[in-house]
Amino acid sequence: MLYRPIGKTGMSASIIGLGTEHLDNRPYAVAEEVIDAALECDINIFDVFMPGTPVRENIARALKGRRDQVLIQGHVGSVDLREQYDRTRDVDICRKYFEDLLRIFKTDYIDLGMMFFIDTEEDYQGVFETEYIDYVLKLKEDGKIRAIGASSHNPRMAARIVETGVIELLMFSTNAAFDMLSYDADIGDAMAGKLDGTHFDGMDPDRTYLYRLCESRGIAITTMKTLGAGKLLTPEFSPFEKPLTVGQCIHYALTRPAVVSTLIGCSTREQVLEAAGYLNLTDEERDYGEVIRTPKGSLSGQCVYCNHCLPCPSGIDIAAITRMLDIALLDTKNIPLETRDRYDASLHKASECTECGSCEAKCPFSVQVIENMHKAVSLFE
Ligand code: SF4
Ligand code: SF4
Repeated sequence: MLYRPIGKTGMSASIIGLGTEHLDNRPYAVAEEVIDAALECDINIFDVFMPGTPVRENIARALKGRRDQVLIQGHVGSVDLREQYDRTRDVDICRKYFEDLLRIFKTDYIDLGMMFFIDTEEDYQGVFETEYIDYVLKLKEDGKIRAIGASSHNPRMAARIVETGVIELLMFSTNAAFDMLSYDADIGDAMAGKLDGTHFDGMDPDRTYLYRLCESRGIAITTMKTLGAGKLLTPEFSPFEKPLTVGQCIHYALTRPAVVSTLIGCSTREQVLEAAGYLNLTDEERDYGEVIRTPKGSLSGQCVYCNHCLPCPSGIDIAAITRMLDIALLDTKNIPLETRDRYDASLHKASECTECGSCEAKCPFSVQVIENMHKAVSLFE
């Protein structure tokens, strides 16, 4: 494994990190398999943004006394309200979930304390103009977090956060498709899937600025959405003429300025080994240049199953339903039985959507959720 220093924090992260979101709502055995594989590969940074107690307990149990071998990237304000994932800046609620994380991991500190999901002006004000920021600074002062970070999907907002001078680490959504969507491309067209190669003008200048800003200030970046939720790997969803490989996606992220670690969400041992296998690839196998030179569309408007649109007032698990829809859309005449069964077992179905629009307002990736719910109804119900 290779390690890169996390800015000026004195900590170093493995260039391949583990995103643990795919361990959510899975049995303990899955967490054990993935965590064991990650530690065998000397992966030393785990992102744990999920607020649910069962998944936190599974990860902590799978660590089996090895907590000191990993840097935990925990999040302040990621909460599980009304049985759905949500975010809050309410300090009392943040404290409850943060203390819970410490208790479950049987630890006195979280290495990287992330101010959770700051994409909009409202998010920014909720974080920096309320007692939320005082709470986070106090956590650092008390040694309950070793470094303060923030997560964002919005390059302009992320740059603003960096410019406050408060954070030492940024978690940012980085992949070639997100970086290369022309900054003046019409988002409505993107949502309608109407963009073609002419909208790829090279790097989005906001993103270029952000990467350079972080590098010049010594702010480290850990990446999320590195594989575009797997969509960059598939011919059907890749916005390029060819899909990228896992190694190419990782290499793309690791060659952005300031990036220290790519956090790859895994749900099997094989996925962990494939990600760590990046280290054994030849320069030729890592080279993504040929692929990203041939864009044909955009990832904007495509769901990356991140759950940031929750809570849904109707209780719909939007990411899960959309994932099933995407599988079904690959071949609508031969929808796998397993996918149908999983849909039938869903607690709340797409037909319960009231078109309130709250999810679309919160989605950082301009996904047309309501339209997707209609499509899911017609294919599954
Ligand atoms: S609709 Fe948007 S916010 Fe919701 S899971 Fe998909 S990409 Fe994430
Ligand atoms: S538009 Fe539908 S899916 Fe989205 S939050 Fe409202 S009810 Fe839920």
